Amino acid sequence: MSTVIIRNAAYDNALTATFAGILDALGGRDIPRGSRVLVKPNLLSPARPEEAVLTHFSLVRAAVEYVLERGARPLVADSPAIGAFTRILKEGGLREALKDLPVECRPFEESVAVDVGPPFGSIEIAREAVEADVILNLPKLKTHNAMLLTLGVKNLFGCVVGYRKPEWHMRTGVDRRMFARLHVQICRRLNPAFTVLDGVLAMEGEGPGKGGTPRPAGVLIGSRSALAVDACVCRMIGLSEGELPSLAAATAAGLWPEAVQLDGDLPAVRGFLLPRPGPLIYGPKRVQGFARRHLLQRPVCDAARCKLCGECEKICPAGAIRTRDKALVFDYDRCIRCFCCSEVCPHAALRSAETPAGAVLRRIARKML
Ligand code: SF4
Ligand code: SF4
Repeated sequence: MSTVIIRNAAYDNALTATFAGILDALGGRDIPRGSRVLVKPNLLSPARPEEAVLTHFSLVRAAVEYVLERGARPLVADSPAIGAFTRILKEGGLREALKDLPVECRPFEESVAVDVGPPFGSIEIAREAVEADVILNLPKLKTHNAMLLTLGVKNLFGCVVGYRKPEWHMRTGVDRRMFARLHVQICRRLNPAFTVLDGVLAMEGEGPGKGGTPRPAGVLIGSRSALAVDACVCRMIGLSEGELPSLAAATAAGLWPEAVQLDGDLPAVRGFLLPRPGPLIYGPKRVQGFARRHLLQRPVCDAARCKLCGECEKICPAGAIRTRDKALVFDYDRCIRCFCCSEVCPHAALRSAETPAGAVLRRIARKML
């Protein structure tokens, strides 16, 4: 049985006490003195707090203070998609928020090979995460245009360092179920002691980058189980658990469902806008090629916003983006629809778009169901 603590919250002076209350209730006072505690926020890319891309700096500060009060050694780390950690700290307010605290704050540096179980076997994960005594997982409640939502389980995929992330997107990205299974297995292997989700200012629409839309939800959700946090978010926004790839993958692996006890009132967030991830591709190879080209949603560029900075081209694991005649060109045959490009675009110039045939098929499917 997992307990899930739900508390109303705002980014104000009371947040530290609210966070401490959640951790106390989950057994946080037992964090051993001198232990290494990894505080793992979502630090995706440079963004201002009001854009809801990053775990809010005041929650990260509350977590660091809590760990320091236990006499433990916090490290705040993540592996941003854009290698611009310094800009993330500055723009996101984290540098200012942590400046008077004795805490190290840096990107993951080194990887170690860790067996996460079949079919993936040994994969490289940040040493700081693997060797931490305690992991305090601080996800942001955001939509994700490949995985629907990015919550507690998916936040730990950020412990796969730098260029390895797109590599795994490439290997599993077309099959969303397989990718979700990878997230679940990484989460199980890292086994975070606590997950506290920042749902104070959430993100809906075309997340998880700047293409998403901030949406106030006014809540912190904490548990010792990242899966239980994710399930509560589903309940809060009216999504069935089976629709969230991470929970579907956990169910298939026999890790979910489990009994959950709620402490606090879960608000109902109505009309939460979800992205519409394209259908998965199955069937013979020839059919897959057709489906990918004509039916799957795909990234498109708004030329008026694009500054041709090249970040999307750099991150694309499939080499599907080129700049030609001062415009971005996509090779949709190569594109695996991982949407890493829209995640990293600093100018919200990329969004996922339906193909005409895909739109027709979806309308027919809706009528038939
Ligand atoms: S789409 Fe975004 S990331 Fe790509 S080149 Fe244009 S501004 Fe840069
Ligand atoms: S173009 Fe975008 S969605 Fe397609 S593979 Fe490259 S990064 Fe992924």
